[in-house]
Amino acid sequence: MTLKQITQLIETIPDFPQQGIQFKDISPLLSNAEAFASAINLLARRVKIKDFDEIIGIDARGFIFGSALAYKLKKGFIMARKEDKLPGELLSQSYSYEYSQAKLTLQKKRITPGKKYLIIDDVLATGSTISAVAQLIGQAGGVCVGAVVFIELPFLKGRKNILSQTKLQREDIIALIRNA
Ligand code: AMP
Repeated sequence: MTLKQITQLIETIPDFPQQGIQFKDISPLLSNAEAFASAINLLARRVKIKDFDEIIGIDARGFIFGSALAYKLKKGFIMARKEDKLPGELLSQSYSYEYSQAKLTLQKKRITPGKKYLIIDDVLATGSTISAVAQLIGQAGGVCVGAVVFIELPFLKGRKNILSQTKLQREDIIALIRNA
């Protein structure tokens, strides 16, 4: 399936979950076997950063793309989870994103100082979520070498926000679909 056909399966829901938000619903795409497989294959091809150790997926839709991509690229998968979901010693970061506020956590033991991590999420909106995870990786001494998203909403200037809050460079931020 082509990128155009995949893009057509993303539904834009106006005013969800609140007034003014154009919510990108990936459910129709995920339930279509061919579209989901093509999306993962295309994402895998777009990841030119080969030198990384593990993928970190963001709760919850980042897990869908992140775990499939980790399987495909034969990398380990780490969960960045919302508050109260992970056991053990945690690193945590509060942040505001496009339509709400949240706290994300990582298990400290999962991050090895000096190791290289690639973040993945479904949507890049304001960039606060990805910046929060990049900061968590840095707190534990890990190196964030890139961020991959399925959809980028360029009008929210998330890329610029990530560049100002992390050590990532423009080319380290990879989006399969822009302006879905
Ligand atoms: P942000 O931190 O503003 O870049 O927001 C990104 C996070 O919020 C991702 O984990 C997305 O799942 C979710 N998100 C933000 N805006 C949207 C949107 N318009 N449609 C779907 N998900 C969104």
